[in-house]
Amino acid sequence: MLQYHTVPVTAFQQNCSLVWCDESRQAAVIDPGGDIDRLLAELDQRDLTLEQIWLTHAHIDHAGGTAELAKRLNLPIIGPHPGDQFWIDGLPQQSQMFGFPPAGLFSPTRWLHDGDTVTLGRHTLQVRHCPGHTPGHVVFYSPEMKRAFVGDVLFAGSIGRTDFPQGNHAQLIASITERLWPMGDDTVFIPGHGPESTFGRERQSNPYVGGT
Ligand SMILES: [Zn+2]
Ligand SMILES: [Zn+2]
Repeated sequence: MLQYHTVPVTAFQQNCSLVWCDESRQAAVIDPGGDIDRLLAELDQRDLTLEQIWLTHAHIDHAGGTAELAKRLNLPIIGPHPGDQFWIDGLPQQSQMFGFPPAGLFSPTRWLHDGDTVTLGRHTLQVRHCPGHTPGHVVFYSPEMKRAFVGDVLFAGSIGRTDFPQGNHAQLIASITERLWPMGDDTVFIPGHGPESTFGRERQSNPYVGGT
């Protein structure tokens, strides 16, 4: 079975998720924005071996701790989509602008594209490219867990900001309605910030995409 635990990190309370196989104890971390020592303690507590870093997009609160963590444990960095290269290049400026600890630069070991999969032991998650908040944003979907890790695409009662460079509101709405909704109304999503919800609940009541 796959399991997960979400740890809010950085001043932005970004939902960093640990995902693991409860038989092999192999783990991946989604969006290690910072607070690396705390993440390592959470892994330690559960007796997990961290093997991979998966990134939804390259905003500082999601990717800021990636270089440090990859270096410390010699981990592969998987994702995001190449559309976010300019956000990775801008991590030093992002950390200065938002008062974050200096973020190191990194090169993804593997870029992700729509329809790709990532694997953890015997388990597979699907990758969907969901641009709009950033051009290279991806989400990770586990049909087995009926969970989707959606970063800053969709929130309980809200949607991602699109007022950044290369943000695109129409594209974001299309990502949500064409790529998230088909995952099913009863699928629970873990957003980049704030509480979990289901796609069904958002389809009904989200003021930005309700009724779609
Ligand atoms: Zn973001
Ligand atoms: Zn965020």
